[in-house]
This record gives sequence, C-alpha cells and structure tokens, in this order.
Amino acid sequence: MSPDFAADLVHRIPKTGVVVAIDGPAGTGKSSATKRLAERLGFTHVDTGALYRSIGWWLKQRGEESNEARAAELARVLKIEFKRIPYLNPSNRVFIEGEDRSEAIRTPEVSLIASQISAIPEVRSALLELQRRMGASGGAILEGRDIGTVIFPDADVKFFLTASVEERAKRRLSELEALGKDVPSFEEVRRQIETRDSADRNRKVAPLKQAEDSILIDTSELTLDEVVDMMAQKVIAVSQREGTQ
Ligand code: C5P
Repeated sequence: MSPDFAADLVHRIPKTGVVVAIDGPAGTGKSSATKRLAERLGFTHVDTGALYRSIGWWLKQRGEESNEARAAELARVLKIEFKRIPYLNPSNRVFIEGEDRSEAIRTPEVSLIASQISAIPEVRSALLELQRRMGASGGAILEGRDIGTVIFPDADVKFFLTASVEERAKRRLSELEALGKDVPSFEEVRRQIETRDSADRNRKVAPLKQAEDSILIDTSELTLDEVVDMMAQKVIAVSQREGTQ
C-alpha cells in the first residue's frame, strides 16, 4: 500500500464516533486510564505499544533483536490481534500468530527492544496504516507516543499524560510485581524508564512529544478514577457536540 493511500485511509472509512488520542511516556497511567475510559464509554481500546512490543518479543524469541530488516518485515506481516474475552478477563488480550502473549510482551527486556525497533522508520510506516485502520471508524481510544501528532493528527480529543519519574517508577514496579516476574530494584526500574524516555523523545521519526492541541494531565497526584473522570467528561462533551453520543 502506498504511503499516500495509507495517509488517506482515515478519510475513506465511515466515521461513527469520536477518535481519542492518549499519548505520554511510560508509567503515567496511560494504559490503565485508557482501559477504564474505553470500558466506561463502550469505546474500542487500541494499545499501540503492544504492536511494537509484539514485534520485539518475536525477535527476542529468535535472537534477532538487532535485525532491522527483519523488524520491518514483521511490522508488515506478523499477525497481531487484540481480543476481548469478557468472562475471563475484561481487558484486551494480545494474540501473536494466534497465541495469547499478553503477559510475555510486558517484560522490561521486551520494553527496551520495543523502544529500539520503534525508531526504525520502516517499522513505523508499516504500523501507521494498521493503527489508522483500527481507529478510523471512531468510537476508539488509541494510546501510544505519536497518536495525536502522527497517527491521528485530527483526533477529536487529545490527551497527553505526564507524571514525575519517581511516581512512574513506583507504578511500573507494582505492575511487574503483579506479573509475578523477577522484580528489579526501584533504581533499576527508574533507570530503565529514563533510558526509554530519552530514546522515545529523541528519535528522528515520530518522537514522543505533546501535540499542541492536546490536554495535558499530570497524573502524579491524581487517582486513576480522577484521571478517568476528567477524560470522560471531555470526551462526552465533544461527542455530544458532534452528535455521536
Ligand atoms: O506504551 P508501551 O510502554 O507499551 O510502549 C512500548 C514502546 O513502544 C515505547 O517505549 C515506544 O518506544 C514504542 N511506542 C511507540 N509509539 C507508540 C507506542 C509505543 O514508539 N505509538
């Protein structure tokens, strides 16, 4: 598919609801807030980080972490699906080539590989079309790093989440504990977060940055419910204005 067609794709699919973009660095509560917001509003939740993680995990399994050409090829052909199995777990499960890999893609090693391959331009352009297709019909919340700037620059509502590094490291540590993995020290988690942030902010293609027309939410001192309430109010107001609620 040509880049022009991919760029135009978003305008070709009939839109029946608003598109919400949520960006921000790791550990700001993006995933939890997006999950809750999507459940509350009945929107589709698209976790775009899971796409980069899935490719990273696949490469790691085969010892091909540094093979850029292979990463680009996988971005085009690897079958990655989000499925909800409500009776088992209400959140999205991530299937790679038909197998549930939801937990496997969340390890710190896969986070770093995901960040490295996310700087490869061919990987990003291959995933651009897929992400647009996932959100184009609306009623969708996409979370990532470049949703409001590159994937959906015309998103109806954009949020940019931020929080102090200490708070983010604390949250990431609890997530890893919940996964029951070998848990690194607080300092190690903090260092990993800073390394990933710096790579994500300084890469040449689609770096992590706040879109000018996004709403900034510092989640350091807010509960998850408070964040979700703020977002839901805004999304409902915009949906009503657009006549889609
Ligand atoms: O959000 P999550 O921590 O799962 O993302 C993993 C990595 O994937 C990020 O550190 C980032 O490098 C990359 N990513 C990206 N663009 C997105 C989503 C994730 O570059 N839209």
